[in-house]
Amino acid sequence: PVHLATFFDSLLGTMSKVAEKKSISLSAEVPEELFIEADEDKLRQIFLNLLSNAISYTHEGGNVKVRAMNRQKKDGTETVVFTVTDTGMGIPRKDLPRIFERFYRVDKARSRSSGGTGLGLSIVKHLMDLHRGVISVESDLGIGTTFTLELPLLQENEI
Ligand code: ATP
Ligand code: MG
Repeated sequence: PVHLATFFDSLLGTMSKVAEKKSISLSAEVPEELFIEADEDKLRQIFLNLLSNAISYTHEGGNVKVRAMNRQKKDGTETVVFTVTDTGMGIPRKDLPRIFERFYRVDKARSRSSGGTGLGLSIVKHLMDLHRGVISVESDLGIGTTFTLELPLLQENEI
């Protein structure tokens, strides 16, 4: 199992330089005792992609925050709900249904400077499917974006 507090400490450590360069405050709020059964490398890839987006698409001085919490579902199973929230430029409503598609980028002009390929979120979606998790997104233009991820605490099969 992955100890989430340690996991995010180390991940934010590796991303702090990029965030600092843009004066973006990067923080995590994770319960100390929370563990999840997941493939650590895949989990790292998921949050690396989401956090690099959050940093890329947020202007200087903004905030990026990750939260994790334990959730007890009505059917008795347990999950972990994660949110990745930024105070960035947001995503237009009409583009929201397509951002998980391969090579889809909202606006070539605004994202050209970041030099991405449009694969990051499609990889995240694929890795979430492997873990039988779900991901959703809410966004307000000019205000910010929140990705919400829910993953089973325990995996029934090998990932
Ligand atoms: P890559 O991740 O392959 O380097 P990318 O960042 O353009 O390139 P995705 O991560 O798949 O590709 O994201 C797709 C598009 O969704 C981005 O081009 C960007 O327009 C939009 N997007 C993703 N995350 C955010 C965010 N946090 N805030 C605003 N727009 C976002
Ligand atoms: Mg990306």
